[in-house]
Formats: sequence, structure tokens, C-alpha cells
Amino acid sequence: MTPNQNNILAKLKLSGRLPTPKGVALEVINLTQREDASNQDIVRLISADPALSVRVIKAANVLLSSSSRPIVTISDAVTVLGSRALRQLVLGIALIVDHQHGPCKQFNYSYFWSHSLLTGVYVRHLAALSRLAAVEEIFVIGLLGGIGQLAMATVYPDEFGKILSVSERQSLEDIYRKEREQFGFEQAELSAAILADMNFPSIFQTLIHDFPQPESSRVVEGTREWKLVNMLHLASLMADVSLCSPAERNRSLRRLRADAALVAIEEASLVQVADECGREWMEWAALLNMGARHLPSLAELFVQIDNEPEEIVIPQWPHANHDYKMRVLVVDDDRSMRALLQKMLVAAGHHVLIASNGIEALSMIEKEQPQLIVTDWLMPQMDGIALCRELRSKPENRSIYVIIVTMQESADKLVEAFEAGADDYLTKPITPKVFFARLRAGQRVVQLQEELAFDREQLMRFSAELSAANERLQGQALSDALTGLPNRRYAMERLEQEWALTKRGDRALSCLMVDVDHFKSINDRFGHQVGDEALKLVADTLRRAARTQDVVCRYGGEEFLVICPDTDAQAAVLCAERLRTNIAAQGLRLQGGGEHKMTVSIGVAEKSETITTLEALLIRADNNLYAAKEAGRNRIILDPTP
Ligand code: GH3
Ligand code: MG
Ligand code: MG
Repeated sequence: MTPNQNNILAKLKLSGRLPTPKGVALEVINLTQREDASNQDIVRLISADPALSVRVIKAANVLLSSSSRPIVTISDAVTVLGSRALRQLVLGIALIVDHQHGPCKQFNYSYFWSHSLLTGVYVRHLAALSRLAAVEEIFVIGLLGGIGQLAMATVYPDEFGKILSVSERQSLEDIYRKEREQFGFEQAELSAAILADMNFPSIFQTLIHDFPQPESSRVVEGTREWKLVNMLHLASLMADVSLCSPAERNRSLRRLRADAALVAIEEASLVQVADECGREWMEWAALLNMGARHLPSLAELFVQIDNEPEEIVIPQWPHANHDYKMRVLVVDDDRSMRALLQKMLVAAGHHVLIASNGIEALSMIEKEQPQLIVTDWLMPQMDGIALCRELRSKPENRSIYVIIVTMQESADKLVEAFEAGADDYLTKPITPKVFFARLRAGQRVVQLQEELAFDREQLMRFSAELSAANERLQGQALSDALTGLPNRRYAMERLEQEWALTKRGDRALSCLMVDVDHFKSINDRFGHQVGDEALKLVADTLRRAARTQDVVCRYGGEEFLVICPDTDAQAAVLCAERLRTNIAAQGLRLQGGGEHKMTVSIGVAEKSETITTLEALLIRADNNLYAAKEAGRNRIILDPTP
């Protein structure tokens, strides 16, 4: 016993009203603590109290219902149960019988004992299902789980009554806080101290102290002790559900469903346990003179909550963190598991989607694009492994982080899971601390991937913008703003390319230098703006009249260069003639009405044996143009006659 427990008890014992068994029961307990006590001594002592004897024999039969031979004597009971379990049983029975009523008006003694007894019955069956503890002993822990409360009600009826009278629905945290203020300790500490005083093993003291608030237990997660704490809590939740009013039931039911998965009990098993316990509870209630009543069927209650909208409560959970919200898909055929995972994920701030098998999951993935999936392995229709494979076969689903939940952790199984495309695995039972740690690891990967994708997208957008800008700039650099024709720079580059091509295939190349006749007079007579219009008209006419392979460029003010690839001098002259006549046929419309006729002069040059450079070609075209002007304009010259 710790010094603190000593203090608590010393304080309470002074009052002389601590709930303790009296008479024969007390003697039995004292006797079994002595090492030299024989089973015969115990038998003799219990037999001295006929009422107690009957109850002990009946209780032993209920506890050992599965064994073949019924117990008919105290001696049988001692032999079968062992002296320790028998002592605990006697203790529990004696306490119930002696404390059916009490001095605290606000404390509901009959509800208290019904709840305690039910917790004991439930936890015994749950523990048997998980093969966790000597079931007779865990029964008594369930039964005495609220002994601290009973002690407070017995020793401080007024003060404790005042705490209870505040509200029926106050939280356990609130009650504990008020108890600490009032008495200097809380009921859980008192329960543990009383068990210590009665020489219960220390693990039982831990269980009784921790189970009302398993989240704040310091027991290491996943250990046998941790499972027992959670199982006791589960049993007391089942007792809540069995006894509370329909108005309060739904919240307890949802909590029950989620917490069952925490100790790897599926909903179906829970329902089965509840059914078995319902019958046993009637036997106990009769045995201990308690008002027995039929318990509601858990299966039916679960169906009811499935048809009702869930109230949104964000659960608090230590180790959960909220810094990055993900869309998480939970895939599991067991409702309890789904409820637990959902509860933990919501506590961590994530957006949760639910599917009950692989097929359902796949259609949900397509619609909702989850970032992380937690999937059960064994499921009807499509299991977790098949889901993983199917998922990874599509490129768009490769970045989803998948955690697979398995029952056993064999190396072969794990290899199979990873090969199917899982990123991580968890073994049942899932413990919150480990779950949140794995979730955070997944979250880091998801976050990193998201950032990478964002960076990649930024880069792609940036490079697209850059190439569009380049194209625009290039276009601007090589074209003429007024007429939209390629400019002189382009003309020179293009001419060089064409010149290079003629060398390879011995191909012809000609060019035409075109100049508008008397253009200055247009500006002078009609203004510069009309001059611009006239230039545009000439440019359009040249472009339309030229052949497709010819390249028409604006070479200078009112001068145009036409590059004619694969064209000898004769063909170039024909081409030039077409340009000239088209321009001459075209009139510039004037604003006040009427037209202004324009003409062009054209100098033609062809690459030849005497014209061996680009510069020479252009000079020849220019000279011929000059000759055309000299000869009277509106004409074409290929070879000026000397
Ligand atoms: P010629 O028949 O001898 O070619 O006579 P011309 O008047 O056409 O020749 P000149 O070279 O003397 O004059 C060309 C004029 O073209 C001078 C210039 O003001 C005008 N010009 C050059 N570029 C532009 C332009 O972009 N817009 C306008 N409106 N006028 C231009
Ligand atoms: Mg001119
Ligand atoms: Mg000119």
C-alpha cells in the first residue's frame, strides 16, 4: 500500500463507517489471509452462516456454469474455486447484502449494485472470450469496481450527496474534480486503496483505478494489463447501455461500438456476450435479492442507432494531432472497427469516408479521391489485398497511402501485403498511440507528395507561360507591326536559309524588290494615316497575289521583298507581273469618296553564275528596281538594257 493510500484509509477508518463485510464474512476473509488456514477451516466457518453458504454455493455454480459437475457443498466450492477466489466471492456477496441501502439520499444504491453486478458479469464473459484472466477474479473486480463511490456515500453521505445532486449528467472529470476539492482524493484512488487494504494483488488495484478513464491510464498500450483496463471499461459501458434511459442510450452505444474494437472484439461477439450475460444476470439478481429485470437486446439497440442520425461530437484523444487534414477512407466489414477508426481519425482532425468492403471502397475512391486508406485484410466480396492490387493498377491511385490492418503478423503475410502495394500495416488490436504514430508517418508521406505535385504543377505552368511568352516575343521580333508581314530581319534569315538550300539540290532562287511609286505624295496629299492604310492595302494585295511558296516581307518604308524559292528568272517575272497588275487594279478608297490608284515598280533578280552571294542578289534586285523607276515606273525589270 502506498503512503497516500494509507493516509486516505486512515482518514476513512477513523469514521468507522467504511463499507466492510461483517460477521462470518469478515472472519472468512481474515482466515483466508492466514497462510496456515486449511480449506476445512474455511468450510467450517462459512457453513456456520447458512444464508451465506447458500449464496456461495449458488454463486460458485453460476461462475462455473461451464464445468460438468454441479457444486453442492461449500467444500466443493473451495476445492473448485481455490481459497483466493472464494475469499473474493464471499467479500463481494457480503458487501452487496450489507449495503443494499445506506445513508446517502442522493446515491442510488440499487442502481449502483445492478450496475456493478452487470459490469462483473460482462467483464467475466469478455475476458473468457479473449482468454485474458482468471475469470472468477475478474468478476469480483467488476463487481467492486465502484467500491470507492460506495465508500464515499457511506462515510460522507452529506458531502458526497451534494456533489451528486448537482446534475445527473455531469461528467466523470467534473465529479473527480469536486471530490478532490472536497475530500483531497477521488473515488478511483479510494477504490484502489480499499482493494490494497483487502490484500488484492497490485494489478487489481491498477485495474480498478484506471478503468473508469482508460484514456488517461499509464499502463503500457497493448499489454495484457492494458487490455484488461479497456475490457473492464467496455463492461461498464455495456452496463450503462443495459441500465440507462433510452434518451441517454445512443451516446453510450456508439462509444461501446467503437471501444469494443479497441480490444479486438467484433460487434457480433459483443452481441453474443450480451445475450449470454442477460440470462446470467437474472440468476445473480435472484441470488442476491436484487430486483431483476429483462435487459434490452444489444442487437436491436445497434439496429436502432444505425437508423438514427449521429450527433457530431469531436472526441478528444491524447496523441491525436490536428496539423494536417486528410481525406481518409476506412474500409472494414466490422462496424465496431469502423466506429473505432472513425472516432480516432475524427479526433485527429481528418475527414473520414467509410466503406464496408473492397468493391464499395473502389467506387468511393474514384468519387472522393482519398489521400490515405486504412483497410481491413479479411473482408467479404473483395479483401484488403485484392483492393490494394486493384488500386495500384491505376496510375492515378499510386500516390494514395494504404495502411492494411491484419490479425496476425507473420512474415509471409506482411510480404504479401507489401507486394500487393500496401505502404504500412497495423496488427489488431489497434492501440491508439501506435495508430496515431503510424498515421503521422503516412501523413508525412502524403504531405510530401502533395507538395511535390504542387511544385511540379507550378513548374509546368511556369514553363508553359515562358514558352508562350517566347513565341510572342519571337513573333514580335520577326514581324512588322503595321502590315503583319514578316519584317526585314526575318526576310534576311529566310533568304539565308533558302540560299543554303539551293546549294544542296542545285535549286533555283529568285527575289523581287517592290517599291510603291510616288508614295510620298500620298502622305503629302492625304496625311500620314492614309499613307499607313495605303501600305496595309499594298501588303494585303501582295500577299494574296503571291504564290503560296513565295514569302512576302516588308523590307523598308514602302519597299517590299518577295522571296521566290525554286523559281527561275522567267517564272519570277511572271510572278512579278501578277503582283504589279493586282496592285494597279486595286484603288485606295478615300474618305471623301473616290479612289486613289497606286502602282509599283519591281526589280527582279535570280541567283546565277554571276550572282554568287546573297548580297549580290539583293544589289541586283535593287539596281533593277532603280532602273524600273528610271524607265518610268509601274513596270518590271530583269535585265536593264544598257
Ligand atoms: P518613288 O516613286 O521614287 O519611289 O517615290 P516615293 O515618293 O515613293 O519615294 P520616296 O523614297 O521619296 O518616299 C517614300 C516615302 O514613304 C517617304 C516616307 O515618308 C514614306 N514612308 C515610309 N514609311 C512609311 C510608313 O510607314 N507610313 C507612311 N505613311 N509613310 C511612310
Ligand atoms: Mg517609292
Ligand atoms: Mg522607296
